Amino acid sequence: MLLDLNKIHAPRERYEKVYAPGAFSADDAFRVVDPVSLAFDILKDKRHFQLAGTVTTMLELPCSRCLEPFRTPVDGRFDLRYQPHTHAAGSGHEAERQIEEDDLSTAFYDNDEIDLGQLMREQLYLAVPMKPLCDSACRGLCPVCGTNLNRGACECRPGWEDPRFAALKALGTRDQEPRTKD
Ligand SMILES: [Zn+2]
Ligand SMILES: [Zn+2]
Repeated sequence: MLLDLNKIHAPRERYEKVYAPGAFSADDAFRVVDPVSLAFDILKDKRHFQLAGTVTTMLELPCSRCLEPFRTPVDGRFDLRYQPHTHAAGSGHEAERQIEEDDLSTAFYDNDEIDLGQLMREQLYLAVPMKPLCDSACRGLCPVCGTNLNRGACECRPGWEDPRFAALKALGTRDQEPRTKD
């Protein structure tokens, strides 16, 4: 998934490719379940490149409430600038640091190639919600018996308390009880 920059000659080129879901290793946070379409324009200015385009696919991820897998589409847009990494110390390094501070959208490339796999992975992570929910009305799992409450009710009484917590609470109150003076 490396883009060979030596093959980019025109000031503007189009790049389109579809990657199989299997090309993306499974992750704790999500699984890629549809082919990943990558399409972008490359603007070349000497050794500087701008990549602007889209990443689209479908992810499967676990609901944070009921833990059931659900699917969410990815429609990521990116506009990234790349410039060569300057390994030499001195003025070049200084200029590089300046850019890093000024422009967060500028990345650096090494060996005349850009890692498109990394670019796509970043877009996939950006598409994962902070709190993934299969449905905004997901009722989650019963904290006592683990029943998926979207599928049916359980017999647990609301307000049921784990006896271990009750015991801890009792210990806590005993400590706080005012001591009687003799
Ligand atoms: Zn859910
Ligand atoms: Zn229950």
